[in-house]
Amino acid sequence: MARVVIAGAGYGGVMAGKRLERAERAFTMVNKHSYHQFITWLHEAAGGRHTVDDYKIEIREIFRRPSSIVVKDEIIGMDREAREVKGRQNSYPYDYAIIALGSAPEFFGIPGLAEHSLQLRSVETARQIRSHIERQFATYKADGDQSRLRIVIGGAGLTGIEFAGELIEWLPNLCKHSGIDPELSEVQNLEAAPVILPALSENLQSKARSVLENKGVRIRTGTKIVKVEKHRVHLESGEVIASRTIVWTGGVRANPLLSLAGFTCDGRGRAKVNEFLQSIDDERVFVIGDCAAFVSARKPLPPTAQLAAQMGEMAGVNVLAAIHDQPLQTFHPRILGTLASLGRDVGVGVVAGMPTSGTVAAIAKELTKVKYLIQLGGLRMVSRNKRPLAREQH
Ligand code: NAD
Repeated sequence: MARVVIAGAGYGGVMAGKRLERAERAFTMVNKHSYHQFITWLHEAAGGRHTVDDYKIEIREIFRRPSSIVVKDEIIGMDREAREVKGRQNSYPYDYAIIALGSAPEFFGIPGLAEHSLQLRSVETARQIRSHIERQFATYKADGDQSRLRIVIGGAGLTGIEFAGELIEWLPNLCKHSGIDPELSEVQNLEAAPVILPALSENLQSKARSVLENKGVRIRTGTKIVKVEKHRVHLESGEVIASRTIVWTGGVRANPLLSLAGFTCDGRGRAKVNEFLQSIDDERVFVIGDCAAFVSARKPLPPTAQLAAQMGEMAGVNVLAAIHDQPLQTFHPRILGTLASLGRDVGVGVVAGMPTSGTVAAIAKELTKVKYLIQLGGLRMVSRNKRPLAREQH
């Protein structure tokens, strides 16, 4: 029987596995952790909403068929000649592989940035950011160092903006608990470009900006970070900002394993794929999600969860087709919408081509969570993961 290995249990890998399970096709899924992470909701976890562990689920709860093998191992390479995915503990031979290993932060060579910033990319980094901020606020009383209460977010794309929206609602509570005047805390969101949220229209960008500014976020566009030192952010203008919490949300690139494994990659390290999502170097390997450079309308698709999930489904379909010697299907991406939360009750974005904002956008964003949980495992999964859907703070 053809051996199928899925490398990575993010949005793409999990949807590929669901498709294979529906066809009763055995596979081996290899992932660094035993759990799947709700990466697109992590700003909530880092920003004080609910407990951090509410933002993950054991992969075994998603795949319940005995023929679906789930292995916890860190993938460190690939031998395409031998057709093996290589893990730290074992090697996983395949006839077909689906590579869904996600992304890594893009630091653009900015000196000191990788060493002195925190990044929001996993449940563990969300936990680290949250406890770091709690620690800074708790320590402020002892030394009165104002830089402990100033949080700098580098980049005002969707990640930076959603995180700023969460923080600005959480900090007053944190101040209250720590006996600090809330007026002393500060969130600065620094953005090199002249606008925030480049994926949205000008009108939605300015709506988002005024919502966040009214809540107290200091948004500074045209403000490029050029160097970071311990507790100091250097701007292109020469200004230096003192902050003990620097969170970098300035962009992502593909998992470096793609280029290390010798795939032909684009400038962001994504492996080039054809219309069927096969690597252009190897028809036995399907590459999906943030790892794939799939060109649509002459541009590579952005690295989003909804596209990763769609690619995962299609990679599953095409692996099944290849196994059964059937023609492969062309991947047609569908961008169903883009939504950014601006805290718990307000959002902004586009749904089915229609601009939306305010509470309606926030509700639409919450509904995308329910939809995803249903895709993962129906109502059972919704009921198992009620906590991140709850309105009230933990
Ligand atoms: P991004 O690339 O979309 O935004 C990064 C921002 O950082 C850009 O606006 C960029 O101009 C800015 N920046 C870069 N270098 C800078 C510097 N030196 N100084 C100051 N600013 C700088 O990155 P992201 O927000 O992490 O998003 C990554 C991908 O994930 C995107 O495709 C995004 O659409 C997707 N995403 C989607 C959602 C959602 O749908 N709600 C949420 C999060 C992320």
